[in-house]
Amino acid sequence: MDMPWGGIIQRYRRFLPITEETPIITLNEGDTPLLPAPALAERIELNISLYLKCEGFNPTGSFKDRGMTVAISKALEEGSQAVICASTGNTAASAAAYSARAKLKCMVLLPHGSIALGKLAQSITHGAKVVALKGNFDDAFRLVKEACSRHPITLVNSINPYRIEGQKSGAFEICDVLGDAPTYHAIPVGNAGNICAYWKGYCEYHEAGISRSRPRMLGFQAEGAAPIVRGEPVEAPETIATAIRIGNPASWKGAEAARDESGGLIQAVSDEEILEAYHMLASVEGVFVEPASAASVAGVRKLAGRGYFKDASEDASVVCILTGHGLKDPDLAISQAAEPSAVEPQIEVVEEFLGLCQPALV
Ligand SMILES: *Cc1c(COP(=O)(O)O)cnc(C)c1O
Repeated sequence: MDMPWGGIIQRYRRFLPITEETPIITLNEGDTPLLPAPALAERIELNISLYLKCEGFNPTGSFKDRGMTVAISKALEEGSQAVICASTGNTAASAAAYSARAKLKCMVLLPHGSIALGKLAQSITHGAKVVALKGNFDDAFRLVKEACSRHPITLVNSINPYRIEGQKSGAFEICDVLGDAPTYHAIPVGNAGNICAYWKGYCEYHEAGISRSRPRMLGFQAEGAAPIVRGEPVEAPETIATAIRIGNPASWKGAEAARDESGGLIQAVSDEEILEAYHMLASVEGVFVEPASAASVAGVRKLAGRGYFKDASEDASVVCILTGHGLKDPDLAISQAAEPSAVEPQIEVVEEFLGLCQPALV
């Protein structure tokens, strides 16, 4: 029997800054599905193969776990007693879960009122000290950096290099499944750590001779939170995709480098386009994601509509990173539909509601 999956550190150890002394804290993250999505490709009139990398299948429901297993393991190795992060929700949920497992104190600063309910519930339930900040993510990020300069606490935002190291494993998995890098890699961009991590992963696999090519990196920001597209910070970022509601990304330069070195692009998609992609993913492919994740599909759809892929070769492929699970943001999902009304428990009533015809009487 093959060795059972034991998380990304076990699988990709030789590419990671792990030593004999590192205590491995894992929830068996990674090994997420790479789903072919031919029906969605047809629906968005895409002429190349479409794959969905479903990162919502990670232990806490987002890709953040790939980075957190390394960041928390290294924090423990370095003798840290406590970690802190600013978060739009998923970093906090992941930090809280891995800290619980590592018996580290975990503190999180969240922008009050713009955290999806599932993420807040996770952070609280895993036992993190949660501060709801009257401010946005960028304020929270500034404050955690200041806290770290005043106290012996480890920062586990994506400027912690171990986060990027872990997150690059997503690129390895894609290459392992496809046998090479895809032609294009589409990804939502918030604080911009993940686009850098994937590019690093693709480059390392290429340099190691494991893959023959590297993809063009296609990054997508929400229109109301698109500082990299606009070329300047956004004071008051706004979007329903709360995970990427960031006005001044920490890894701005790295994201631009990934874009330019790969011959890719970073563009904006509107909330409306994000929501359309969100519904298509759920109804056409059966994949429930949180709104930010749908930005990658919305972006590919937009590019396809403009003929961006028209000169691509027949065997070209695009992988869309679906960064987080749909159950993270139940409020948004419910708000998108009419909540079902309660009916009497009688077959005739149920039939009427379901639009089922009465069976013929015998
Ligand atoms: C964190 C996050 C992002 C943004 O990733 P960055 O590395 O900040 O660019 C996108 N989607 C989801 C679901 C996230 O949790």
